[in-house]
Amino acid sequence: MTDFNKTRAMFDLPEGLIYLNGNSLGPMPKAAPDAMNSFLMDEWRTELIRGWNTKDWFMQTNTLGDRVGKLIGAPAGTTVVSDTLSIKVFQAVSSALSMVPDRKVILSDNGNFPTDLYMVQGLMKLKDKGYSLQIPEPEQVMDAINDQVAVVMLTEVDYRTGRKHDMKAIIDKAHSVGAVVVWDLAHSIGAVPVDVGGTNVDFAVGCTYKYLNAGPGAPAFIYVAERLLADVEPALSGWYGHEAPFAFDTEFRPMPNKIDRMRIGTPSIAAFSLLAAALDVWDHVDMNDMRAKSIELSELMIAEVEKRCKGVTFAGPRNAEQRGAHVAFRFEHSYPLMQAMIANGVIGDYREPDVMRFGITPLFIGRDDILKAVDTMEKILNGGIWKQDKFQHRSRVT
Ligand SMILES: *Cc1c(COP(=O)(O)O)cnc(C)c1O
Repeated sequence: MTDFNKTRAMFDLPEGLIYLNGNSLGPMPKAAPDAMNSFLMDEWRTELIRGWNTKDWFMQTNTLGDRVGKLIGAPAGTTVVSDTLSIKVFQAVSSALSMVPDRKVILSDNGNFPTDLYMVQGLMKLKDKGYSLQIPEPEQVMDAINDQVAVVMLTEVDYRTGRKHDMKAIIDKAHSVGAVVVWDLAHSIGAVPVDVGGTNVDFAVGCTYKYLNAGPGAPAFIYVAERLLADVEPALSGWYGHEAPFAFDTEFRPMPNKIDRMRIGTPSIAAFSLLAAALDVWDHVDMNDMRAKSIELSELMIAEVEKRCKGVTFAGPRNAEQRGAHVAFRFEHSYPLMQAMIANGVIGDYREPDVMRFGITPLFIGRDDILKAVDTMEKILNGGIWKQDKFQHRSRVT
């Protein structure tokens, strides 16, 4: 059994703050400052360039990749970390497209996170004419999978509503018509159990700064199924993916048969030190315990909000099995309501056009936090506090 009191004690959260935004940016693990300091003082300062060998910096893309992969059921040697998620989306989709050269349709949905769609739009400009990106409603995706589709690119958990796709059903259908599937697991890893091996995923990508708590701008990851590693085109062919990076050849030759071919260039080793500290927390967590607890807390929040907060309506699927680990509500004035909650020590966030999101992260959130958060929302609504001028102003980042 996972001891959630123990995991909670592993985070350094400001006293009195209720943090329901671990789905956007996880909080700082207590071990992070020492990990960073140790990287600075015991690695960079003392080892200098030797650190690439003596501290194995060069292979941390893979050693940390294996630890990240474990959280989504990936066997060792199929996941690497580096770069940003937008880059990894581009890389995965272009690699996937080259596996189906006679087809030109990329299928996504209109609930996907915009950067994923933008990256594909940019990619299409670089390719021959004739490519198209289809973005039906999420519920229409299954029907839109046919033998014209080259790549199905989806985010498992909708960043707004929390609606969760049925990964296995979509993969099975896509494979039956010869399409390749790229999954974005940004809102899945560390949030819901994922089994990339068991569900026969082709490509998966995601970030580590949301539910994994590795810090703002932490490295992204890419997973490629073992059965594809011999043939997959790296798409972004950098020297880290070369068969012999230190041969300094003028021709790119991808690392044969290995996930290493998906590496691009020099990663941030400083950021890796924070990722390593964040991953240590997960050594104490059973994903099924976490899922059960996250559903229990989500159901509590939905029930309490519906009972006590007039005008606020639940915006996600009722069936908890069809949701990820955040809950979304609609309110006519969601933006100022959320600003007023933040000013009163409850941090969630807002997404256009009218959605309030709350990340339900049992690693550091318990029943009391949920009840206090709903108390705060209720008081703000009853007192009309959200109407104050200062809560209407839009910051650059919402
Ligand atoms: C958070 C998120 C991103 C962010 O991409 P970055 O390159 O890290 O800015 C991309 N896709 C999805 C689905 C996300 O939820």
